[in-house]
Amino acid sequence: MKIICIGRNYEDHAKELKNPLAQEPIVFLKPDSALLRNNDPFYIPQFAKQFHYETELVVRISRLGKKIDASFAHRYYDEIGLGVDFTARDLQDELRQKGLPWEKCKAFDGSAVISKFTPKMRFPDINDVNFSLKVNGELRQQGNSGDMISSIDQLIAYVSNYFTLKIGDYIFTGTPAGVGSVNIGDRLQGYIEDRLFFDFNIK
Ligand code: MG
Repeated sequence: MKIICIGRNYEDHAKELKNPLAQEPIVFLKPDSALLRNNDPFYIPQFAKQFHYETELVVRISRLGKKIDASFAHRYYDEIGLGVDFTARDLQDELRQKGLPWEKCKAFDGSAVISKFTPKMRFPDINDVNFSLKVNGELRQQGNSGDMISSIDQLIAYVSNYFTLKIGDYIFTGTPAGVGSVNIGDRLQGYIEDRLFFDFNIK
């Protein structure tokens, strides 16, 4: 199982971090040891100062495929969930400045939170799905899949040019604006539409 993540897929988030808009999807991977599920707490690591939440729709691959055409991509996933792409932001800035890879700031243990998954058929239009994050009961992030720069189907087509997609792989599809730091004691609750998908604490 692998975790494929997409960066800067929402214009408002690229702007808030003062990043240029990507010409094509930005792709990075996390190992299976990054997964955090069942609403387990996130323990803030010691190796950096600033850990940001990034709330993202997550797709679970349901069929083996490579070089998938976007028009067939919908056949390769049948469930979506909600995730948090935890990022050591200060370390990311440092690695970027040095032109080094992102793994240390993006792929550490617990950096890939996933919720329960739900059939995509529950949603009338997969390109019009609302999701949000509350921190300590306060709304911090709000997104809609229709605002993705590359749609879910386009992302599946794009990443499958490079990586064979296998059953059970996850694709984190990028975060909208509103990212911010977590602190010990925070409670993070993620919603797709009005339904609670994850609810966990920062320790
Ligand atoms: Mg992200």
